[in-house]
Amino acid sequence: MRASLNALTDELKRLKASGVKSVVVSEEGLAQLHKVVSARAQAKVLPANPTPEPVVPKSASGAQKLPPKNETASNNQTPQAKITVKPLAPARSSNFPPPPKVTLPAGDKQTRWDALFQMVINDPVCKAHVRPGKKLVLGIGNLNARIFFCGEAPGAEEEEQGEPFVGPAGQLLTRMILGMGLKRSDVYIGNIMNWRPEMPVPPGGVQHGNRPPDAEELAYCLPYLKAQIDVVNPEIIVALGSTAVQGLFGAGSFKTLGEVRSQWKLFAEKPVMVTYHPSYILRNPTNRSKRAIWEDLLKVMERASLPITDKQQNFFLEK
Ligand code: URA
Repeated sequence: MRASLNALTDELKRLKASGVKSVVVSEEGLAQLHKVVSARAQAKVLPANPTPEPVVPKSASGAQKLPPKNETASNNQTPQAKITVKPLAPARSSNFPPPPKVTLPAGDKQTRWDALFQMVINDPVCKAHVRPGKKLVLGIGNLNARIFFCGEAPGAEEEEQGEPFVGPAGQLLTRMILGMGLKRSDVYIGNIMNWRPEMPVPPGGVQHGNRPPDAEELAYCLPYLKAQIDVVNPEIIVALGSTAVQGLFGAGSFKTLGEVRSQWKLFAEKPVMVTYHPSYILRNPTNRSKRAIWEDLLKVMERASLPITDKQQNFFLEK
């Protein structure tokens, strides 16, 4: 399988080098390719037997409070991979509307989240970006979560199901969460974007690829992300990948993800751990890249006073 994929990649590179700008691929061929790549992506990329039990004690109210914790540096830091941040694409439309002003009603977290959900699914700008039959996506999870994972934008599976991180990258994220000794339902998972950034498809066609959102799109959706942070009031945010980081801190705030990765930043007065997007691990399933993201998550666990076993401490250290 690997040999066929490598041969295909080589052939595409050769065509590109010889000036070919596009290739026609049948729906069936694409579906086959998608199947192969997904199968590879889902091959063991994180601990096969992650710590299964949730370890965050919940108070009666469900709220989980953290003691203040000093930031600590890991002694065995993995060398940084150099991911150059692609500049965000120029705005696709010169008259993109200004970001919405989000005011939530008073009430408990569920009431406020429900109101926010209604706002997003009725927002005409958001609606205009969703293809017929597809869904807008708001974050999901524990409204009392201590840890809030923030990704980039829905992909194909997410816009189908209306839930963030349910495709291959999401399945890996779920395994990362399990590796931390938590369950998906212990945390909150959201994206900067509420819609899947659309690409041109032939009439009646299906969008196969994804494109990064542009600056206007990120800015438009950011108030909805902030409102979710406001409702959940997490103690830690984990920013997944360079687009999420650009969305939170502004395009141009760094040149390579390595400049900011594994560091604590501040957004909406919350500590943010910057790390790779799980799809980076899907593309580079080496122990080195897994260890890098894992070290960032160890920092999160440490700050959250989550228990860390020797086994967890040593994940992906073997060559
Ligand atoms: N990638 C993201 O950043 N978010 C998703 O919801 C899925 C994939």
